[in-house]
Amino acid sequence: MNHWQELEHKYFMNTAKRVPLTLVKGQGARVWDENGREYLDFVGGWAVNSLGHCPPVVTEAVTEQVHTLIQTSNQFYTIPQIRLAELLVQNSCLDKVFFGNSGAEANEGAVKLARRYGKRYLNGAYEVITAMGSFHGRTLAMVASTGQSKFQQPYVPLPAGFINVEYNNIEAIKAVTTSQTCAVMLEPVQGEGGVNLPSDDYLVAVRAWCDQKGILLILDEIQTGIGRTGTLFAYEQCSIEPDIMTLAKGLASGIPIGAILAKDRASVFTPEEHGSTFGGNPVACAAGYATLRFIIDNDIAGKVKKVGRHLINGLENLKQKFPFITDVRGRGLLVAMEFGSDIARSVLMACLDRGLLVNRLKPNALRFIPPLIIDNKDVDEALGILDGALSSMVS
Ligand SMILES: *Cc1c(COP(=O)(O)O)cnc(C)c1O
Repeated sequence: MNHWQELEHKYFMNTAKRVPLTLVKGQGARVWDENGREYLDFVGGWAVNSLGHCPPVVTEAVTEQVHTLIQTSNQFYTIPQIRLAELLVQNSCLDKVFFGNSGAEANEGAVKLARRYGKRYLNGAYEVITAMGSFHGRTLAMVASTGQSKFQQPYVPLPAGFINVEYNNIEAIKAVTTSQTCAVMLEPVQGEGGVNLPSDDYLVAVRAWCDQKGILLILDEIQTGIGRTGTLFAYEQCSIEPDIMTLAKGLASGIPIGAILAKDRASVFTPEEHGSTFGGNPVACAAGYATLRFIIDNDIAGKVKKVGRHLINGLENLKQKFPFITDVRGRGLLVAMEFGSDIARSVLMACLDRGLLVNRLKPNALRFIPPLIIDNKDVDEALGILDGALSSMVS
């Protein structure tokens, strides 16, 4: 353990399961540790560094903004948040935007919005149906909505009004829908919960069910949004439109931000019912605008589709070579590799030794969520390192 890691143990609450690596610098898809050693980064700040580390368009926009206006409170109009809201609305199926600071805060706001809708139009219905294996954040209500017991058990009792049902099973949603239901909240692809891809007809069926019952469909695109899955938003590949969508991770290249987007008819907050001190902060919104503008203008999502295919093909080849790889799955640059036993941490450490950063998704699975700007050469380099790391598991 080095100096910094000792200090971390002394001063930090024991919440993070960190990899023994201290990062001090990043550029593009590369990061460097305090000894100057370079790594290829296939974690990307947990699907946050869409344009890689320190992308010039974002550092320039942020630098200019911090020299101009950092924070005002939402008592006043500020220009960066209005520009970002306009860009989001012009490029999505949603009409109105609210900005917060994180994914959990965006989802909390989305649930509040759905409850507000329930009060106004559904006789006070307040329950939200969510999926097992989901991940919606760490606040108490979002822990209740996150259908994974490891996040829930330490904190029971949890806020009421959330029902977790099996993912990719429309009948499970139908079975628990009552007059108290105001919304269904789902990820188009479950990220944190395992890179779980639903069947093509699932979201179409959920959409039809929500329409039939007059309830809202909230899509949590915090991980899948902003080009990650090969379209600007994942719903574009699902033949549906959500009533409410949440964004965060990839939106502002690492400057904290979260957003709730809603159709006009679901945009039912009235003044002072919801708010945020830092939300829509000029610096975060300048970073968000620069990020989104770059992604749209350079068709990064289209490139993600191609390079993601290349990554999945390469991983499939490794699966042929190493029988202990049991599954490769993903969409765009949200990709997982699963093993027959709990070797993810060992493979991660073997990759680290060889200069590649990957994410341990589960004891028996890795996740690859690199910057969206990587090219086939970066993918080939990562695959080569992974090949070596996997070979070392056998010997
Ligand atoms: C990361 C994530 C969240 C939580 O975001 P935070 O910014 O950590 O609060 C919520 N939903 C999904 C799908 C996520 O991937």
